[in-house]
Amino acid sequence: MDLGIRGKRALVCASSKGLGRGCAEALAAAGVDLVLNARGAAALAETAAAIRAAHGVTVTEVAADITTEAGRAAVLAAAGDVDILVTNAGGPPPGLWKDWDRDDFIRALDANMLTPIALMQACLPGMIGRGWGRVINITSASVKSPIGALGLSNTARTGLTGFVAGTARQVAGQGVTINNLLPGMHDTDRMVALDGAVVKAEGVTLDQARARRMAGIPAGRYGSAAEFGATCAFLASVHAGFIVGQNILLDGGAFNSTV
Ligand code: NAP
Repeated sequence: MDLGIRGKRALVCASSKGLGRGCAEALAAAGVDLVLNARGAAALAETAAAIRAAHGVTVTEVAADITTEAGRAAVLAAAGDVDILVTNAGGPPPGLWKDWDRDDFIRALDANMLTPIALMQACLPGMIGRGWGRVINITSASVKSPIGALGLSNTARTGLTGFVAGTARQVAGQGVTINNLLPGMHDTDRMVALDGAVVKAEGVTLDQARARRMAGIPAGRYGSAAEFGATCAFLASVHAGFIVGQNILLDGGAFNSTV
């Protein structure tokens, strides 16, 4: 399917690895020029070079912490006018409800709620002015079904979801759609870190930790960054203009519900 977005320009945050990279690769495959971001310059340069070589699109790299004001300013200055914004950042650390103080909550809110909101506030006026835009926020399955050990994520991402629900309906009439992608368990470094925490806490092997989690997923496996990215590219496409303010769960059926 031709996604109809060849020649558009996308900012994909936190995209040297994992789900962000999956989104960047799928957009590049559709002919979209990219601005990529991550903190680590070496992995970012490697990813940018691989995408240029594979897809022949223009790729600009900005090594910066997207959760800081200075980092966002640098990324937005390099990005200029973007048609497609994919927000993303690292997830908060695991822990228990009684562990966190105000500073922990502020850090999580900054990274996973206030950063995507600030990026939308920066990019939406240009999209509205040009009469076309797509915003896809990478959030988490924790928005639909809380994850016990990820209370900071549950909290921050639910706040973002509320902002998107209202804002998406305010900009849809001007050609701009905003939607959220909710990853369940995907085979990325983040998952290795979370499984590693289980290994440490419970003394099981990594294979045992993974097998136990996969047993709770009807698809029987973790998702891949490539299939996640393909969904993102479809949401960014010309075909998805009537999909507004949705929370799309990619979890292999793990969330058990009828609708
Ligand atoms: P990942 O494999 O660890 O990749 C994270 C990417 O983001 C890397 O490129 C990393 O590069 C970059 N990054 C992290 N913090 C950043 C920051 N402050 N500024 C700029 N770039 C940053 O993680 P992932 O699995 O793709 O997860 C992406 C998001 O989805 C996270 O918020 C995660 O919590 C959420 N999520 C993931 C899963 C899953 O199963 N994988 C499930 C639910 C939710 P640098 O470290 O070099 O900056």
